[in-house]
Amino acid sequence: MRYHDSVVDLIGDTPLVRLRNVIGERTRATVLAKVEYFNPGGSVKDRIAVRMIDAAEASGELKPGGTIVEPTSGNTGVGLAIVAQQRGYDCVFVCPDKVGEDKINVLRAYGARVEVCPTAVAPEDPRSYYNVSDRLVREIPNAWKPDQYSNPNNPRSHYETTGPELWDQTEGRITHFVAGIGTGGTISGTGRYLKEISNGAVRIVGADPEGSVYSGGTGRPYLVEGVGEDFWPDAYDRSVCDEIVPVSDSDSFEMTRRLAREEGLLVGGSCGMAAAAAVRVAETAGPDDIVVVLLPDGGRGYLSKIFNDGWMARYGFLATGGETATVGDAL
Ligand code: PMP
Repeated sequence: MRYHDSVVDLIGDTPLVRLRNVIGERTRATVLAKVEYFNPGGSVKDRIAVRMIDAAEASGELKPGGTIVEPTSGNTGVGLAIVAQQRGYDCVFVCPDKVGEDKINVLRAYGARVEVCPTAVAPEDPRSYYNVSDRLVREIPNAWKPDQYSNPNNPRSHYETTGPELWDQTEGRITHFVAGIGTGGTISGTGRYLKEISNGAVRIVGADPEGSVYSGGTGRPYLVEGVGEDFWPDAYDRSVCDEIVPVSDSDSFEMTRRLAREEGLLVGGSCGMAAAAAVRVAETAGPDDIVVVLLPDGGRGYLSKIFNDGWMARYGFLATGGETATVGDAL
């Protein structure tokens, strides 16, 4: 019989798929996508979830029957919920009320508790997202907060899995690695591994929404989700990236839609952002170069936004001549 003991065993070892149609005609380099929606929770964040939980079990921070408390509404929550459930932990996720109902329902479907906090209060307000999660950690017995922004096991998971997988899958021929930056875990861990194993030969390129701190901004609003920050997280190692490519929402969303229509890859907006940066990198790369771009999640969670013509037109991403909304309206 061929089977896995638990769905947790399916985390990692995601495939590489060559991008054939979204690259420019003059591009001679090979562009390969690391498709992370093949993880059981549907995103790259399953990798950090299992690594952070393994480490907390080993250190005794997470005790049998304990409760995982994390302020997250998205992919990290799904990864944590799956691993927690399989190992007998409870999960409480704290998220702001601007988060869509579907995302909250996904977390609840896995058995997690979700506390929704008002967005329209100051960070120091006891009802704020930050304060509620801190209070829950204090009040719940055996509570543990992974904190993906500062947990070294976030980048470490990529140093131990994503990086070696890419080196192996490309038989050491990878020349460029392109990924979006949110917490910075993916690019820092994968990038550091690839730099070390190649003696510095692999070029590490971060893709960032225009306006975020990584590309020199202040965190100006943008609509692409899961990437860009208005502060510098500890999980981000500033010494790893050779280059940061800023990408506009418009270019990110156009590429996201093209990946679905032309490559059969229904992926999220940060994937389009990273792929847009990779295509730019590939345009100036040589014929023997292998550019790998990491696509963090699937597109199902974005059907009512990026894949919805009305939403796209409202923000001016599709030419319609109608009235357009501003980024602030969506935030
Ligand atoms: N894309 C999406 C959809 C994400 O949820 C995240 C994680 N915040 C990223 C990209 C960025 O990954 P990292 O946090 O490892 O920088």
